[in-house]
Amino acid sequence: MSCHVLVVSAIRPRHMDVLAAKYILHRYDQAADKDGFVADVADKITALVSTAGVGVPTVLIDRLPNLKVITSFGVGYDSIDIDACRTRGIKVSNTPDVLNDDVADTAIMLMLATLRRLVVGDQWARSGNWSAKGAMPLTTTARGKKLGIVGLGRIGQAIASRATPIGMEIGYYGRSKKPVEYHYEAELTGLARWADILMISCPGGEATKGIVNDAVLRALGPSGYVVNIARGSVVDEPALIAALRDGVIAGAGLDVFANEPHMDRGFAGLENVVLYPHHASGTVETRDAMAQLVVDNLAAWFDTGVLVTPVN
Ligand code: NAP
Repeated sequence: MSCHVLVVSAIRPRHMDVLAAKYILHRYDQAADKDGFVADVADKITALVSTAGVGVPTVLIDRLPNLKVITSFGVGYDSIDIDACRTRGIKVSNTPDVLNDDVADTAIMLMLATLRRLVVGDQWARSGNWSAKGAMPLTTTARGKKLGIVGLGRIGQAIASRATPIGMEIGYYGRSKKPVEYHYEAELTGLARWADILMISCPGGEATKGIVNDAVLRALGPSGYVVNIARGSVVDEPALIAALRDGVIAGAGLDVFANEPHMDRGFAGLENVVLYPHHASGTVETRDAMAQLVVDNLAAWFDTGVLVTPVN
């Protein structure tokens, strides 16, 4: 099999070097005239590398008649049309598990930073308010609170295992009840009513678009918090901004946004949110491990025709 690989979005530089030494790379990501570039190489391409953030346009897949495999950097694959790939017999891989720890750490970091008002406190110290006005207002503890996890998958379970020793009670919502001790709610609104903090860790895409809506936020209530490390699309952002502004909920810690990197500026003016620029897996160690998994998937595909971490 010819090893012509279309690079739609690059992985880590060291791992790009590894790919370049093994395969003939076609750098779509660097092409000025992308249309003309695809026209020139389309027939040769059997494999494609991209990242979850950039994804793969379905029109591009349609233009590659011999495409057999897409290896994506990231665990979410909502930016790849899996149905179109399935129809064409194109296999897709992602990078699960290796990012669980850093993403779960970020979820806990955002939760604690929101409850304990870390950014406000930082500003209080920096601005001189501390010496001028005295102690900052009291915050609220995580201990004893109920954490409602939306999507108890690999990352959701890693979050639960960190929240338990903090002294939190764990509940979850998903399409099915799992063989775990945690409290289960079959309806998202029910979980929001039960929880003090709604932790979103389900996939993005059509099935979960806007499921955290006004009704869910009202069920969470004025002392409730939202933390989202999943996808911005899961939340109805205008409803969330209104809820944060009007005291429908108490606060939010957000790593992901509907329109990245052009985050809704409505969030920037709110004091009760802690914002992070979709960087939950953004450590050198985890990004290297994700890149290695892309390299391994591609190698396994070309060597054996079987992916290490297949999606479909
Ligand atoms: P996973 O193991 O597949 O877990 C996803 C969980 O969501 C499962 O427990 C699943 O449970 C539930 N779920 C699936 N569809 C659902 C639906 N329609 N409604 C409610 N729950 C649903 O995935 P993961 O590895 O934990 O990753 C989860 C997501 O985190 C990824 O898809 C990605 O978008 C996001 N993520 C973000 C970052 C970041 O940098 N912020 C990094 C990594 C991942 P049931 O099947 O029982 O419903």
